[in-house]
Parts: sequence; structure tokens; C-alpha cells
Amino acid sequence: MASTASHPLVCIELVELVTDYFEDRLSLEDRLRFDEHIAGCEPCVRYIEQLAVTVELSGQLRPRDLDPAMRDALVEAFRGWRRGH
Ligand SMILES: [Zn+2]
Repeated sequence: MASTASHPLVCIELVELVTDYFEDRLSLEDRLRFDEHIAGCEPCVRYIEQLAVTVELSGQLRPRDLDPAMRDALVEAFRGWRRGH
């Protein structure tokens, strides 16, 4: 019995969830899926590390602070990484 809520997290979903992650607003289930994903996904770890630096510098991360161009570039990077493996 597959539930749409418990399928493995993919990179694009992680990008969508990342602001909630930093603001500690994820449900326990999403948080576990998030942690599980980054445990096996190096590009996402790098992405989160970059965001962590941004959060540290600015003191907070708001969804509107995410530059759409940066976001698109990341999604493209994830795609390229997947193609290369
Ligand atoms: Zn990923």
C-alpha cells in the first residue's frame, strides 16, 4: 500500500522543503525523509551547506530570499549530477 506522503524524497522536493527545514517547521516525517535524503545525496548536502552559510550571515532565511535563478541553477545541477551517474 503506497502512500504519496511516504515516498522517498527527491532533490526538487528537498529544495522546496529546505526553508521549512531551516526554520524547523517540518513535520517529523518530512524531517526524517529530509535527513534520509541528504545522507545519500552529495549535491543536496552542498546546497544545504551553502544555505547554512547564508542563514548564518543574514540571521534568517525567508522563502523570498531564495533567488529564483539560483534555484533553477541548483535544479539543473541536480539533473546533471543524476545524468552523470
Ligand atoms: Zn538530493
